[in-house]
Amino acid sequence: MRLILLGPPGAGKGTQAQRLVQKYGIVQLSTGDMLRAAVAAGTPIGLKAKDIMASGGLVSDDIVIGIIADRIEQDDARKGFILDGFPRTVPQAEALDRLLKEKGLKLDSVIELKVNEAVLLQRVENRISEMQARGEAVRADDNAEALAKRLDAYRAQTEPLVHYYGDKRALATVDGMASIDEVTAQISRILEVPGPKAKPTSRAKAKAAPKKVGIVAKAGKRVRASETSKRAKAKKAVKTKAKKAKVAKKSAVKASSLARRAKKTAKKGRKAPSKAGKRVVGRKAAASKRAAQKVAKKVTKRRAKGRNQLTKRR
Ligand code: ADP
Repeated sequence: MRLILLGPPGAGKGTQAQRLVQKYGIVQLSTGDMLRAAVAAGTPIGLKAKDIMASGGLVSDDIVIGIIADRIEQDDARKGFILDGFPRTVPQAEALDRLLKEKGLKLDSVIELKVNEAVLLQRVENRISEMQARGEAVRADDNAEALAKRLDAYRAQTEPLVHYYGDKRALATVDGMASIDEVTAQISRILEVPGPKAKPTSRAKAKAAPKKVGIVAKAGKRVRASETSKRAKAKKAVKTKAKKAKVAKKSAVKASSLARRAKKTAKKGRKAPSKAGKRVVGRKAAASKRAAQKVAKKVTKRRAKGRNQLTKRR
């Protein structure tokens, strides 16, 4: 199973991703966690990302695309993965499409956790106090100023992905304001029901022909399947019509040949050889025979009369 979790900071992507990891035995690939690990390890990528992350801005597309390309190659990602925090921009989504296509992989679903922005700051504040209570280091970007910037970045650069995947009919939206368990239940229902993950958006409907995109797994298949079934129905209708016409033609030919044979038989005064037309033809033949005998009688009578008159005249 391959999924993307979409949603603003504090929407609950990480919490739900961990539950999905347990349930499906797939890995969670969080670019945020990977970048934080790179920062902590002081790698060249970490050094580049450190300040951008702390301020709440986005690290360059090249860096995160490189990280994900390497990560999905690894053995533990073979069974499937949940992308959390990636893609975050349209170029990242396009790069992911290319990566998956190259590897012959498809996404099963993109799940958007929709939340009311007003609760986000509260949720992040709760996270900070929980981390502090556990004695964990608080994230450098978990403060009001950086959060405002992270939200701006989400609205401007990540939210367009809702349309990007909505147009491909791969998106499903869940109510991220519900309880953690309820959100998990909603996600499970989406993942367990095959078929399109979302109703087509008006933008998607506006496009006359559905785009053929490798990334839309079940949704795309369904679109193609319905087209195929329409085509198959039309083909079947034409075939049935042709078959009916053939049968009608055949029976017309049979009827006319039967009629010809009946006529012939009647002339000869013989019984029709065919089983099907036997009774009708037999009756017709007998009637014609009787008529012929009547005519013959009349002719004989007339001839006899004629002969008598001739003899009389003589
Ligand atoms: P959040 O909890 O705000 O969703 P994450 O833990 O996913 O944040 O990421 C933290 C920070 O790491 C981001 O604010 C950003 O600087 C950087 N980052 C993570 N993923 C990406 C990405 N896909 N593209 C660019 N920057 C990213």
